[in-house]
Amino acid sequence: MAKSSAYTAKAPQPDGRIVYTEEENLVWRDLYARQEANVRRWSAPEYNVGFDRLALPADRVPQCTDVSRTLTALTGWKVEPVPALIGFSKFFGMLANRTFPAASFIRSRKDFDYIKEPDIFHEIFGHTPLLTDERFARFSEMIGKAGERLEARDYSWLIRLYWFTIEFGLTHANGGYKALGSGLASSPTELPYSVESPDAQRRAFDVIDILRTPYRIDIHQPVYFVLDKVDDLFKAAERDLAADIRTAQSRGLFAPLYPVKEDA
Ligand code: FE
Repeated sequence: MAKSSAYTAKAPQPDGRIVYTEEENLVWRDLYARQEANVRRWSAPEYNVGFDRLALPADRVPQCTDVSRTLTALTGWKVEPVPALIGFSKFFGMLANRTFPAASFIRSRKDFDYIKEPDIFHEIFGHTPLLTDERFARFSEMIGKAGERLEARDYSWLIRLYWFTIEFGLTHANGGYKALGSGLASSPTELPYSVESPDAQRRAFDVIDILRTPYRIDIHQPVYFVLDKVDDLFKAAERDLAADIRTAQSRGLFAPLYPVKEDA
């Protein structure tokens, strides 16, 4: 998780709505227009069903209050604006309460193609479609609840399970790979790369292997984990994840498949 952000959170008004400038709304419009065809092609059916359910506005930044109304009716989740970066403890606590923490700013044109930290395009366009599905809603809640029971030193182990599924997971669908992850749904370059590139490794979904796999947030992932069927993910939420973390710790981390950087 990045330690600093070039962006400032946008605070909601008393009615919960956030004021976006004309230019910020145009950035959303252009990001949405570029990415819609991509998710239709490369994202998993479960993502696209959720995307249709939400019917996000194409021409302006959605309001968390509006998205929450739809989500709450479907799965009891809501989206809450937070500062650009929050700690793991707060993150897990919010997930445990079916509240998705959303960075409220939107990237500037200079970061149009790639932004390291999550912005509202990633949070809403990337994450909320899966939260319309009770199975992903429950999985995310269970990650939060498992996190709440851990010591802080174990947070970085559990977060890998979230990272390699909800953020960057793949699944088999329609005879090929499809992207499940929100980090893929919101990235115009990593979405096709994750599904099609011969340079990426694709390993079978395995909780212990995932917990042992280090990652970097600022590069296309060198390895993805592929669910055979999406239901395999939900079985993982019923496991004793604290025991899985101890198993993973006793076996140790895999060697990174990327150049190691100090802040990785
Ligand atoms: Fe994310």
